[in-house]
Amino acid sequence: MAVAQKKTTGRRKKALDPVRIQLKKDDTVKVISGRDNGKTGRVLDIDSARGRILVEHVGMVKRHTRPNPAKQIKGGIAERESSIAVSNVMIMCSKCGPVRIAHHMEPVAGGKTRRTRVCRKCGQALDNK
Ligand SMILES: [Zn+2]
Repeated sequence: MAVAQKKTTGRRKKALDPVRIQLKKDDTVKVISGRDNGKTGRVLDIDSARGRILVEHVGMVKRHTRPNPAKQIKGGIAERESSIAVSNVMIMCSKCGPVRIAHHMEPVAGGKTRRTRVCRKCGQALDNK
């Protein structure tokens, strides 16, 4: 008899391979697709395991929260950011607007190199350090 097949549980999504996200916290990004298309905001959080990011004032959802006096939580409807796919945003270059990211190798003392992120169009550094 054939081995019983394992049932897939519910509507949980399959875990994806971690995506390499070139964005960092506090980057300014522009949304290029989806409900908040055209908005710009600051990156608040990055979830490389799911390939999603949290952008300030983008993907707002209303959360209905129950009051919990022990934790000082007020009930009601709170607006919060929800994550959006990284593929739906582009980093903003201060000169060109939304651009793709290129990498520049910078020689560091000791024969080593350091990768810095630069604008693919004009070459301006995107890491503000
Ligand atoms: Zn640029």
